[in-house]
Amino acid sequence: MKVTVIGYWGAYPEANEATSSFLVEEGETKVLLDCGSGAVAQLQNKIELKELDAVILSHYHHDHMADLGVLTYSRIVDISLEKTDRPLQIFAHNYDKEAFDSLGNDTYTSVVAYNESTPLIIGPLKVSFQKTAHPVTCYAMKVESQLTNKVLVYTADTAFEESLIPFAEKANLLIAETSFYAGQDGRKFGHMTSEEVAKLATASQAQSVLLSHLPHFGFHHQLKSEVQRGYSREVNLASSGAIFYL
Ligand SMILES: [Zn+2]
Ligand SMILES: [Zn+2]
Repeated sequence: MKVTVIGYWGAYPEANEATSSFLVEEGETKVLLDCGSGAVAQLQNKIELKELDAVILSHYHHDHMADLGVLTYSRIVDISLEKTDRPLQIFAHNYDKEAFDSLGNDTYTSVVAYNESTPLIIGPLKVSFQKTAHPVTCYAMKVESQLTNKVLVYTADTAFEESLIPFAEKANLLIAETSFYAGQDGRKFGHMTSEEVAKLATASQAQSVLLSHLPHFGFHHQLKSEVQRGYSREVNLASSGAIFYL
């Protein structure tokens, strides 16, 4: 499984970058986890938009879905120009019915609701979900390759929750939102601190951690060293275009 960081900022993208978005590739299958602001421009550094099979949204905050509308426009253009005949698959939860209904569902997109009880199968990838602790309904995702059994877990947006530990168990790569520094209070905003990421990564025995949803204050290398204080395996800071092979 190949995982590419398309965007990693929390809240808004800094110049020429993007907010939360990750490209997951296995065989010919290409899936985007979240589609934050700036993601469509960044994604084209890696693949052609028409190649994308599916997008999975964790929740309806702008920093996770701002570019979904223009991504669907790209599929309208590509189908109209006969560059592809495949609609873009969009998977999202429907606990916010108004937001879900606004995703569109026609010849250019295929919108399907996911839930916690039934994993999605997209090509060789199996994707399961678990609700997180966030001000709006949000889901963490576990992506398993049925070819290699490698596991990617993406926390999406969440405060620290004990239930994330079994969900992330033995992930080959844990993409953990790290919105705050050690000693700060992430919980009241529905986010995690570096200390909580270390606790999650250690308790779940994740093999490596990628710090994402990074803040617009402080020094990110400090987040990394704070995580390393409580977690002894590999820690990386997300950066645009970074690639991880599982
Ligand atoms: Zn959020
Ligand atoms: Zn967010």
